[in-house]
Amino acid sequence: MARTKKVKSTGRYGARYGKKVRTRILAVEIRQKKKQTCPYCRKNSAKRKAAGIWHCKSCKKTFTANAYTVE
Ligand SMILES: [Zn+2]
Repeated sequence: MARTKKVKSTGRYGARYGKKVRTRILAVEIRQKKKQTCPYCRKNSAKRKAAGIWHCKSCKKTFTANAYTVE
């Protein structure tokens, strides 16, 4: 945990990426953790299963979308 400093969860990316990039990745990760709106039932029940693959808990549909967010 000593290396994380200000970058929070992006600390694991190490020094390969600059601070700007890490800040961007962090912003994306915060959005990822939130549930996304399902394009079928319009409920906030879509969770990311893998990059670009989302599953809606409400209508049980699995669909592909943007790697990080649905919209
Ligand atoms: Zn749905």
